Amino acid sequence: MDRLKGKAAVVTGGAVGIGRATVIRMAEEGCAVAILDTDQDRGEALARELADRGLQARFWRCDVSSEAEVKAAVDAAAKHFGRLDILVNNAGIAGANKPTHELTEAEWDRVQAVNVKGVFFGTKHAIPHLKAAGGGSIVNLSSIYGLVSAADVPPYHASKGAVRLMSKTDALIYASDRIRVNSIHPGFIWTPMVEGYLSGQADQAQARHGLEALHPLGHVGEPDDIAWACVYLASDEAKFVTGTELVVDGGYTAR
Ligand code: NAD
Repeated sequence: MDRLKGKAAVVTGGAVGIGRATVIRMAEEGCAVAILDTDQDRGEALARELADRGLQARFWRCDVSSEAEVKAAVDAAAKHFGRLDILVNNAGIAGANKPTHELTEAEWDRVQAVNVKGVFFGTKHAIPHLKAAGGGSIVNLSSIYGLVSAADVPPYHASKGAVRLMSKTDALIYASDRIRVNSIHPGFIWTPMVEGYLSGQADQAQARHGLEALHPLGHVGEPDDIAWACVYLASDEAKFVTGTELVVDGGYTAR
């Protein structure tokens, strides 16, 4: 119940999906949680829902591809909670699903702006607060698509591969500051992102069955499967864990 008691966290993309589940589990574990998202309605509703349960959460509107917005929101959250110990760089988009030779530069750049620069901006502006707290934990959402390939979403694959190595580099740079940096690599998780991915398919039931069959455990994951991984990496239970890639994929990459 108190695995994160006394800590404060920023979770980007915290309004729905994996981010939402992470916000809820962290708050339930005693953490004060800042929800940063472009979706103001859902973000504010979640903050209210948690406050009504006596938990600590507050929403800040923030597009992670804007450095000024990230700095303002991270600084405001740290000031509001009086400290910052944890950053979960979760906000991400799937982006255009076209073969490489059909992609426009703008389609490529948008995915990198959110998925890669967003992680850079979050980390850059959280680090001074984590140092001030005497250490902390950064959790970056990569993907199985940052470990192995599939014949789709080329900009997304590139972005998640980048996040994997950004995590390891920052793990080394900030180890002496007692700031741990790790990446999580989910398999397919049932969220609005995956619903969007499937909505383009003619036969959605068959498409879902096809996705499930890719995972040896026989099903797509749920947001809590990843939220608990975030709680673990953010907590002192993981005090000797940095630079690692935590794969939570129902066996997808075990083949
Ligand atoms: P989602 O699309 O369901 O939710 C993403 C959240 O991020 C939303 O609340 C959205 O409003 C917010 N967001 C999007 N762009 C933003 C921006 N520029 N600034 C701030 N917030 C923004 O996604 P999800 O499935 O919950 O995925 C969360 C993370 O996990 C992503 O980084 C994704 O790449 C990664 N991931 C997801 C899966 C999966 O199968 N769902 C698998 C592997 C990795």
